[in-house]
Amino acid sequence: MQTKFIFITGGVLSSLGKGLSAAAIGAVMEARGLRVINVKMDPYLNVDPGTMSPYQHGEVFVTEDGAETDLDLGHYERFVARPLHQRNSFTAGKIYQNVIEREREGGYLGSTVQVIPHVTDEIKRMMEEATGPKNGRVDLAIIEIGGTVGDIESLPFIEAIRQMRADKGPENVLYIHVTLVPYIRAAGELKTKPTQHSVKELLSLGIQPHILLCRSETPIPDELRQKIANFCNVGKDDVISAHDVNNIYKLPLVFHEQGLDARILQRLGGNWGVAAPLLDRWQDYVDRSEQPPHTLKVAVVGKYVQHQTDTYKSLNEALTHGGIVNAARVELKYVDSGDIDPSNVARHLAGVDAVLIPGGFGDRGIDGKIHAIRYARENNLPFFGICLGMQLAVVEFLRNVGGLADANSSEFGPTQHPVIHLMDSQAGITAKGGTMRLGAYPCDLAPGSVARRIYGADRISERHRHRFEVNPAYHALLEEKGMRISGTSPDRTLVEMIELPGHPYFVACQFHPEFKSRPLVPHPLFSAFLRAALERQLLRERTKPAPEISA
Ligand code: GLN
Repeated sequence: MQTKFIFITGGVLSSLGKGLSAAAIGAVMEARGLRVINVKMDPYLNVDPGTMSPYQHGEVFVTEDGAETDLDLGHYERFVARPLHQRNSFTAGKIYQNVIEREREGGYLGSTVQVIPHVTDEIKRMMEEATGPKNGRVDLAIIEIGGTVGDIESLPFIEAIRQMRADKGPENVLYIHVTLVPYIRAAGELKTKPTQHSVKELLSLGIQPHILLCRSETPIPDELRQKIANFCNVGKDDVISAHDVNNIYKLPLVFHEQGLDARILQRLGGNWGVAAPLLDRWQDYVDRSEQPPHTLKVAVVGKYVQHQTDTYKSLNEALTHGGIVNAARVELKYVDSGDIDPSNVARHLAGVDAVLIPGGFGDRGIDGKIHAIRYARENNLPFFGICLGMQLAVVEFLRNVGGLADANSSEFGPTQHPVIHLMDSQAGITAKGGTMRLGAYPCDLAPGSVARRIYGADRISERHRHRFEVNPAYHALLEEKGMRISGTSPDRTLVEMIELPGHPYFVACQFHPEFKSRPLVPHPLFSAFLRAALERQLLRERTKPAPEISA
């Protein structure tokens, strides 16, 4: 059967959660028995998001094959089972790069190279590649266009998806537009005008959306859905209320309750899939996440700036998933490592059940992270270090236990003891985006290690995104002083995991396990870390002196 396409555009303003909507639609359609693939097209000119600041653009998500992609791919992978690749996300920068390279090679045979048809054709070619046979069988491709309709940059993308309807046949293409229905407090009303205008904008570009996903603070009442339908030339049932939910994993259920999957199938002429979606696993996850009996407080020690909830998106999700397995809600305490010094570290970490040091780049706030690691190590506080977090755990250990006071990472400048350094094979590469170890690598786990017990496997595969490695010259000293190298590359040159025997839970990894955690399949490292946090909390509660009873 031919692949069918849903194109998702956004209107009114950005940050409407288009990516989440695209992911949740994917989940419902997958639950209908379809093979779904999600794709993201971004209209900005960076060739990939690897060079963009996570503080501005949100996390850089890494795929199995090492692509540095937009964080929406993280949403897609968390909601839809299919693993994504480099080809499943591309930017205008990449499109223009391809077109210009081809022009330089004489590939256009003397013709004038133009946005239409050359750029739009390249967009269509990339869409085919993103959804074509290389991906295995695809029944339904859900392609999201970044940005907001009306942006200058997104015009070639809108034109390309407009042409797709003629190319593929109207029965194979559906347009879903995500808009905003704001609540105006002064008037006490939900307002439909921005949606009307946004649909008009899309119409002026030749696209009549079939379905409107209306984002709002509260469910949109029937009369208003009817009003939107009248003004925007769609059926009332095609106006879906995408109101705020307290748990993003409710979205597939919210969409299904309103019949979105049925509408999509009807529109695409589909008698495919199963009659009712199999959403039990989502329902079960949501049920378990409502008011779990425990609350765990985890300090995430990083460098922080304002407005950056998306900087550690996958990490936050992975912690949430790992909490649910332990019947716990995870409350994060963001501690800015720049504020930590030896005199106040105990105060900053007072009352938390565990400490996590996430990945990061650059030397700001490094000392504070090292103080936090030392505190966790010496006070038996469960600790989880990820990437930079593992590198700093090695630095801290060699400084304070290994007797190398100036042990450091060469990322932060020259030192006598570069215990974290660039491998020879990487030195000398300077192009941005060219130097990192990216994507999935195998890792062997040491017999008898905590890591092996947690994974229940002796060889694993995890995703990386970093330049520096533990310097092999210090492997022996680490082990001699009591740190266990529990995971290595199969040739044993690279340290992938460490742990501290004797500590209740002190585990760190060079890779980013958060990229592989799914709500329905939580990552074992997060589950084990939070289990240790819970055990500590329960033990402390049990051994707490009984409160004095006053007469
Ligand atoms: N900055 C460190 C490196 O490049 C760690 C990177 C990370 O934490 N993702 O190796």
